[in-house]
Amino acid sequence: MFVSSVLAFIISNSYYHFFLKPANDRKVTEISHEIHDFYTNNPSIAIEDYLSNIGTLGFQLYLVKENGEGTFFGGEFRGTSLEDHVIKDVLNGKEYHGIKQFTPKLFVTGFFDNELINTIGIPIEIDDQPHALFIRPNVEVAFGEMRFFFAVLLILIIVISIIFVGVSTRYIVKPITKLTDATKTLSKGKFNIALNLKRRDEIGVLARNFSQMAKNLEQLEEMRQEFVSNVSHEIQSPLASIQGFAQTLQSKELSEEQRQSYLSIIEDESRRMSLLSKQLLTLASLDKEENILEKDYFDVSEQIKQILFMIEYSWRQKEIAIDMQLSPTFIYADQKLLHQVWTNLLTNSIKFTDYGGTISIHIYQDGDKCHIEVKDSGIGISEKDLAHIFTRFYKVDKARSRKDGSSGLGLAITKKIIDLHDGEIMVESVFGKGSTFHVFLPM
Ligand code: ADP
Repeated sequence: MFVSSVLAFIISNSYYHFFLKPANDRKVTEISHEIHDFYTNNPSIAIEDYLSNIGTLGFQLYLVKENGEGTFFGGEFRGTSLEDHVIKDVLNGKEYHGIKQFTPKLFVTGFFDNELINTIGIPIEIDDQPHALFIRPNVEVAFGEMRFFFAVLLILIIVISIIFVGVSTRYIVKPITKLTDATKTLSKGKFNIALNLKRRDEIGVLARNFSQMAKNLEQLEEMRQEFVSNVSHEIQSPLASIQGFAQTLQSKELSEEQRQSYLSIIEDESRRMSLLSKQLLTLASLDKEENILEKDYFDVSEQIKQILFMIEYSWRQKEIAIDMQLSPTFIYADQKLLHQVWTNLLTNSIKFTDYGGTISIHIYQDGDKCHIEVKDSGIGISEKDLAHIFTRFYKVDKARSRKDGSSGLGLAITKKIIDLHDGEIMVESVFGKGSTFHVFLPM
């Protein structure tokens, strides 16, 4: 308020000096001429009575005779100094424009400066004698009550503004204090934060975003805890089985056949753990998302064919028919990561398809997208499970997965890789009839 008051003062004073001062000078000059003309046309009037009358109407006047003797009429002047040559010039017939020339100290509006130099001077003949008459409006008479009115107005503006600023500051500061408390609560690991989310202003937006962030953090924390418990569980079960069989192996009353069987179980379990740790490492590096893609152009159909050739033993063993429609299709992607995608999808299809089933793999070019379809006539996925199969550690049939050495991470890794390529993966499935995985990748 102080800064704006100073600025307003400087601006309004400048306005007075450049625009209002000349206009004021003109106006008072006109009035002076009228006073002069009336007296000249009515010389019988006593000049003292006439000027006293005008003085009571709201003017301050100073009449100077040729010999330098002067009389004041109307209100008193605060400053009465006026240079002799000014009086002489007016006596000699020149007009004096003191209002226009007046430059007050400190650049304060000269309008209120009740000084003799801040007047209009005109020559006037009284009884054939030259006189000089100096006139200025008596601001006190003209603005007496108005000044009081403006002072009250100004004080009220200041007081009411202070009250409003105080109230509105509380209105702004209170929610911010609440938000600060909320950040403290959050940093202690507590996520249930109560904020006023209904406000429609910027603070409301901030509160809504903040509580959304708290919700996300809570979800993240839950996911982290679930992830740790899943990992522990996945490590615990093979370890327990290795421990059990190793103990059994220590007893001497075992046939060679039993010994071999237990050793192969230990080998399987350790292989499972090794696969799990590899998958976890892959997920961790994919989660970092820091330019991990090493893209180049390659024929995706050729890559899929190679994988089918690599895992030929598993589908031949189950007498599964493979229907391939793979025309050469070049895409710009990370070859190593996509190798993992097709391997996951195809081994899953083989794993969940019974003897004598069919798996078909098609590649379609769909505008600037490449659509790869992997369809099997396997056990299918129920609608309830369909929504979760891309979730980490999700397995539909826990017992069977254990036998297969599954971890429930394969599809999570697959989806992550596709997402990193700005692609999309979808699945359609009819329980008991088979599943179709659709992968869309930018060419
Ligand atoms: P896993 O390592 O157990 O195969 P995935 O993430 O690859 O883990 O798959 C998660 C679950 O999705 C599997 O346990 C399985 O129940 C189901 N699933 C995946 N692919 C198929 C498929 N082709 N047919 C039926 N079920 C499938």
